[in-house]
Amino acid sequence: MTAADVIVAGAGPAGAATAILLAEHGLAVTLLDRARFPRPKICGEYLSPEAPRVLDRLGVLKAVDDRAVPLAGMTITAPDGTKVAGAYRAIGPYRPYREHAMAIPRETLDALLVERVRALPLDLREATRVTDVVVEGGCVVGVEAVGPDGCARTLRAPLVIAADGRASLIAHRLGLRRAHRLRRMALVTYVTGVEDCRAHGEIFVDPPDYAILNPVAPGRANLSLVVPLEHVTPWTARLETFFTARARHLPHLARRLAGARLVAPVRAMGPLAYEVLAPRVGGVALVGDAAGFFDPFTGEGVFAALRGAELATATAVRALRAGDCSREALAAYEVARRRAFAGKARVARALQFVVARRPLANLAAHMLARRPDVLDLLLGVLGDFVPPRALARALLGR
Ligand SMILES: Cc1cc2nc3c(=O)[nH]c(=O)nc-3n(C[C@H](O)[C@H](O)[C@H](O)COP(=O)(O)OP(=O)(O)OC[C@H]3O[C@@H](n4cnc5c(N)ncnc54)[C@H](O)[C@@H]3O)c2cc1C
Repeated sequence: MTAADVIVAGAGPAGAATAILLAEHGLAVTLLDRARFPRPKICGEYLSPEAPRVLDRLGVLKAVDDRAVPLAGMTITAPDGTKVAGAYRAIGPYRPYREHAMAIPRETLDALLVERVRALPLDLREATRVTDVVVEGGCVVGVEAVGPDGCARTLRAPLVIAADGRASLIAHRLGLRRAHRLRRMALVTYVTGVEDCRAHGEIFVDPPDYAILNPVAPGRANLSLVVPLEHVTPWTARLETFFTARARHLPHLARRLAGARLVAPVRAMGPLAYEVLAPRVGGVALVGDAAGFFDPFTGEGVFAALRGAELATATAVRALRAGDCSREALAAYEVARRRAFAGKARVARALQFVVARRPLANLAAHMLARRPDVLDLLLGVLGDFVPPRALARALLGR
């Protein structure tokens, strides 16, 4: 087997996409994942209208289209019951790749990406857990990994891409992960029997909680409830009881769920938000959740993982061709990431401020009800095809 140019740790959307793009540049890629695919993943299972652009580039869009439910827009219900519905549509110069978002089970989406990986000449190793990073002379030069045979091996490459998700071992080992002061937990399950739940995602804001209903298949919706972490902690052994009681406390959600049935165990994940610093050593780049995560309210996540893969690939290809994977050479990726994601991150923080405060959330809903143009712009920002400055301009009346 040829020596790898790049080791990618993690074959979720970030890792699979990076591996595919690097392999298409003719680079020798070793892709490691501790799981075997298909594997489950706790997620709201919403894909922004720009995600299809990258999925198309990766050669999986047709397969995704065959299995995904198109979502024409989002309906938001405020604490006082005000309901606003926005659409993903072209607005002036801003056109989404698709005029709809998508709902698709992550087990399916991630397996389709790995299927594409399997069709390419790259070295995919499932059931292989990265257990450490190898750092020599101020540079990451490889990883330690334990394969399905239980044997530990050292794998070396000039570049390691950490795409090992929110609990990234590589970010931990490099001392890059920081706790965030936003302390929230998500509870995720599936429901059936919700009337007329098909073409729209639905968000119910009821501080301190919010819930998202996402129709992932005919007659089946993903239901995610996000609550303060400390409210769930005493209930970790009885998540279903907590979930059912809490969902009843959100009157508009409760009404929507009348006649619905939970059809899967409630799974919990939190704290949701954490920060990850840029690497202080060369030979490594972090992509997707390994590079940080804030909150699923704005549908961030999979698109950021896919877009991050494109940005990381551009820098990685240049660095590998120049034979220089130093921290300085890889810094271009950090700059590109900030440029790509900083605006939406500011919108996400502002929205968190609003949805955590009942009067403000009601006020925002009343304004959006009067200004459907602003609502569609907001959806465009959340859908990754409208730049946040266009929303700011509309809000400031410029
Ligand atoms: C409750 C919740 C709801 C969300 N809802 C949405 C949503 O609706 N839409 C959206 O776009 N995003 C959503 N997100 C975010 C989204 O799930 C993530 O951003 C996305 O999964 C990131 O992809 P990734 O490839 O970086 O990580 P993952 O998808 O987590 O993939 C990481 C991979 O690394 C592997 N791995 C981990 N550790 C190791 C190791 N040591 N060795 C080898 N392999 C390893 C794992 O097995 C996994 O396959 C949500 C997140 C949460 C928590």
